[in-house]
Amino acid sequence: MTPEQFGSAVLDWYDQHGRKDLPWQQGITPYRVWVSEIMLQQTQVSTVLGYFGRFMDALPSVQALAAAPVDEVLHLWTGLGYYTRARNLQKTAQIVVAEHGGEFPASVTQLTELPGIGRSTAGAIASLSMGLRAPILDGNVKRVLARYSAQEGYPGEPKVAAQLWALAEQLTPAARVNHYTQAMMDLGATLCTRSKPSCLLCPLQSGCQAHLLGLQSRYPIPKPRKVLPQKSTLMPLLANRDGAILLYRRPASGLWGGLWSLPELLAGEELDGLALQHGLILGERQALPALTHTFSHFQLAIEPWLVHVEQASSAVAEGDWLWYNLATPPRLGLAAPVKKLLKRAADELNAGELS
Ligand code: SF4
Repeated sequence: MTPEQFGSAVLDWYDQHGRKDLPWQQGITPYRVWVSEIMLQQTQVSTVLGYFGRFMDALPSVQALAAAPVDEVLHLWTGLGYYTRARNLQKTAQIVVAEHGGEFPASVTQLTELPGIGRSTAGAIASLSMGLRAPILDGNVKRVLARYSAQEGYPGEPKVAAQLWALAEQLTPAARVNHYTQAMMDLGATLCTRSKPSCLLCPLQSGCQAHLLGLQSRYPIPKPRKVLPQKSTLMPLLANRDGAILLYRRPASGLWGGLWSLPELLAGEELDGLALQHGLILGERQALPALTHTFSHFQLAIEPWLVHVEQASSAVAEGDWLWYNLATPPRLGLAAPVKKLLKRAADELNAGELS
């Protein structure tokens, strides 16, 4: 499809199926379009319908919004969530009144300088209410264009976003841009839905790469899962003859801050140093199944060893160390994987006793 064919197909579809009766499509002004666009961010049309009417009745102009008590604005927003949007709405109204004589600037660049207005919202205000040829790329349109062009790469990446913006720019027609913008939003919301898009009803199907390849569910490419750095540690479960395990309390700040944990060693040789520090004579040791614990910024591969302590100089450990009795466990804050490992050690020791 050429850009001209694309534009005509979208506009023909709009004439037959596009929504034309939404409240913000009546008596169109930049103010009404802007308020509806901000309300529609992360919110369904059906929810916004009731809010929009009440908001416009109470604050019918940008001047009224700029002068309203902030509590009134937040009250009218109650239930829509994301209150930063409401605060930015009023800030923007105040700037439009104070710096632009109460008129929204007729330029995408100037619109994006206002609080809470990104490039796509600016494009929607400019095209829907001013008839300016300005592309939009909200979530719905992103999905349509990513499928239409079988765009590789996650659209959240700047390079991929730039390619989609360039395509949106290229496809946006000069005439009837207001209807085109509305149609693209509607197409994404009603036909090119996240799951099970209705390709057979779609005006773009003859040029849509995802449809032609049968790969609609592949696009848009989802956010790549982060590959976390790996770290590894050896955690000895030093078990004394009473079936208690040696734990220490981690420093208050940092990972597992203030929780009780197992000693962490870089290599097996360090075990002798640990034994010396606590006056322990070590006996048999056995490896338990490894465990992986995922933190937000790395993965920890834990190699646990169950080490029998033949003799301890004192049954009571001191300072930030204690013998944790598995049969009558004290109420302590334990790091999650440590809790799992203590359970394994208990099972292992019980099995040993039974055999
Ligand atoms: S043909 Fe299907 S996948 Fe392509 S834009 Fe239309 S609804 Fe979306």
